[in-house]
Amino acid sequence: MADISILENVPLAGYSTFRCGGPARYFAEPSNADEVASLFKWAGEMNLDVFVLGNGSNCLISDEGFNGLVIRIGRNMSDLSSEETDDGKVIVSAGAGLPFARFGSYCAELSLTGAEFACGIPGSCGGAVFMNAGAYGGQISDLIKSVSCWDGTAVQNIDNGLCEFGYRKSLFERLDSEGKTAVILGFEAVLSKGNKDEITALVEDLRVRRTTSQPLDVPSAGSTFKRPEGYFAARLIEEAGLKGFALDDSGAQVSPKHAGFVVNNGGRANASDIKRLMDYVSDKVFENSGVRLEREVRLIGNFGG
Ligand SMILES: Cc1cc2nc3c(=O)[nH]c(=O)nc-3n(C[C@H](O)[C@H](O)[C@H](O)COP(=O)(O)OP(=O)(O)OC[C@H]3O[C@@H](n4cnc5c(N)ncnc54)[C@H](O)[C@@H]3O)c2cc1C
Repeated sequence: MADISILENVPLAGYSTFRCGGPARYFAEPSNADEVASLFKWAGEMNLDVFVLGNGSNCLISDEGFNGLVIRIGRNMSDLSSEETDDGKVIVSAGAGLPFARFGSYCAELSLTGAEFACGIPGSCGGAVFMNAGAYGGQISDLIKSVSCWDGTAVQNIDNGLCEFGYRKSLFERLDSEGKTAVILGFEAVLSKGNKDEITALVEDLRVRRTTSQPLDVPSAGSTFKRPEGYFAARLIEEAGLKGFALDDSGAQVSPKHAGFVVNNGGRANASDIKRLMDYVSDKVFENSGVRLEREVRLIGNFGG
């Protein structure tokens, strides 16, 4: 482990957009696939669980934190470049640690169309692939050519068709749920040239739609629940009378601005307060509509039960 610094007892609240959660027992930010491999080897020798963290914008980290090694894929792995192909398309290569919004703005600067939706999503490029992030009719799977990934043994380049993309899911999410290793290192996306003014106008239009409809000034992890087939989660929550609802004065609240978001007012709620509210909302919506909401926000660490 010559050159990689592994920190101990690192508070994770600052690495989560919910602004809560306990510490990581160990924490490291690798710069490349070799370092990722070394960290996994070290964790194996130490008999530690590993969690791969991006920008923490879709995670609720337990108050106890994570009793293992958190590998954060961040700015050390945020390369960004582009290359024109013979057929006039452009391949944009992005490191997994690059902010996904920066990928979107870079494409816009190059007059490439298709990635405008990415500009307002606060995750990393790796997290965007894992979740198949999308908004306003676009999703990253529409653009991906291939994803590079460390599978615990070697670096693999996986073509889009094998990435098992679906609504907020991917091969990488499935492998993770099966306890298998799949660290996303970066992706190649294919984009077409478009009209710069139209691209700029669309980015601005989506920014305005987001700022007017979402509570962006309060900590959250975006949409709490996935969209159930044939419904909108926010509407079901509103119909259950829960828009603006809080169980207590912990700070955890269903946003009064957008019922699809659970927010952490003042960053003062614990993860357990937020989890309790999410469970309550899910139960009430089920009682009211018969629809069982599936959580989009991922729970990290121990929440009991
Ligand atoms: C205000 C706000 C608005 C949002 N709007 C949207 C939206 O419009 N559309 C949308 O889809 N999402 C939205 N989100 C949710 C979130 O930004 C996305 O899900 C994003 O893709 C998560 O990326 P991340 O890097 O933050 O992932 P994290 O939260 O760090 O991690 C999420 C999951 O991905 C895994 N992961 C992350 N990076 C890697 C990697 N390199 N290799 C392997 N696994 C990895 C983690 O292990 C974890 O299981 C929003 C969130 C907020 C706070």
